[in-house]
Amino acid sequence: MSSTGHTDMHVGCPECGATIDASVPMGPGIHTENDSNRLRGKQTRCRNCGHELELYYY
Ligand SMILES: [Zn+2]
Repeated sequence: MSSTGHTDMHVGCPECGATIDASVPMGPGIHTENDSNRLRGKQTRCRNCGHELELYYY
């Protein structure tokens, strides 16, 4: 594993089922003890059908 500062996410498109590869930047820190629910969102689009979806990550 290489640490490039990004996390690769693989999600399935709800419309066509294609696998979408998304590279999300890693935050300055992951705080699991905070209950503030500070989720980050990133919009991406399915390359197959163009369906837009939002990814949430910590
Ligand atoms: Zn799709």
